[in-house]
Amino acid sequence: MASISSHKVAVLVRGENGSYDFELANREVPALQPTDLLVKLSVSGICGSDFLLASGNAGPTRDILGHEGVGRVVEIGSEVPPSLAGIGARVGIAWVRDICENCAFCRMPGGQGEGHCLEMLCSGLKRDGTFAEYAIVPSRFIVRIPEGVPDHLVAPILCGGVTAYKALKVSGVSSGQWVVISGAGGGLGSLGIQYAKAMGCRVIAVDVGESKREYCLQTGAEAFFDGLEFDKSAILELTGGGGAAVIVTASSISAYQAALDLVAPNGSYVCVGIPPPGKQVGFDPITLISKNIKLIGSAVGTRQDIWDAIEFVARGEVKPKVEMARLEDLSQISKNFAQASIQNADVGTLDKH
Ligand SMILES: [Zn+2]
Ligand SMILES: [Zn+2]
Repeated sequence: MASISSHKVAVLVRGENGSYDFELANREVPALQPTDLLVKLSVSGICGSDFLLASGNAGPTRDILGHEGVGRVVEIGSEVPPSLAGIGARVGIAWVRDICENCAFCRMPGGQGEGHCLEMLCSGLKRDGTFAEYAIVPSRFIVRIPEGVPDHLVAPILCGGVTAYKALKVSGVSSGQWVVISGAGGGLGSLGIQYAKAMGCRVIAVDVGESKREYCLQTGAEAFFDGLEFDKSAILELTGGGGAAVIVTASSISAYQAALDLVAPNGSYVCVGIPPPGKQVGFDPITLISKNIKLIGSAVGTRQDIWDAIEFVARGEVKPKVEMARLEDLSQISKNFAQASIQNADVGTLDKH
């Protein structure tokens, strides 16, 4: 089918000193390989890491970013078995875009290692991302999306939602236990509040400012502590010794540092937020040893995790807060994001801890 030859995309244009912009363009739709599927995207979420990638600080990228796309298959390569996908199949396009199926990580049971495939290709890095009308996905790595949840509510789950869900899952926290979320008022953190609540946990939100307080409490946190002023002992007292899981979705080093002291004995400290490149968090091994603390890093999730995370939305237990915009608004959205990041960074340097 050669009817779809060009499509609208938002192209990243980098300037001097890490500045960047997005410009609309018409591009040729890449040629469909025999084992590929062509997907018409209806929506794409915008993730904070899209802007990190756009800045160039994380290394070279494609000029089409985006990794929270939802759409339907409109064309099928000649060698794709009909049992794999049909026209109209609903798919997601997330961070992990293709895997080799052969390396040690791909062969781990239950697909749990697929996010570490040695040949992994990611959206916006080695493959064009989802800030576009169409995208190509390999038939061997299809992120199937169940019917029933609207596209615009699925999109934020493909990266933000599954990341929050997976961080809680790997923390090992159980129903009734306390979860402390640092950076709880951000996109990722607020999804974390909702997932933690849905899992039966009690949530303490840490962030900065009155508007974040209101938002976090509205979203389901039981208590809020301002990151600039909080007294750690108040959190330790409220929780009876700390959070069984402390999830850091904030990206500032001061937030990471302060959160270390909030973990309960036998608890987990889960790193999720992406700090500026090259920054490090210091810890005293004796603290980890004496309190039996697990130090965990967690990034996105597998296709099964995505499916599980969407199920929470389908059951109405997690309701992503979504604002709709057009592809041509991406530049303005990125400027607003940069502004917010600068404000957060300024505030972070005032942190007393
Ligand atoms: Zn993302
Ligand atoms: Zn592999």
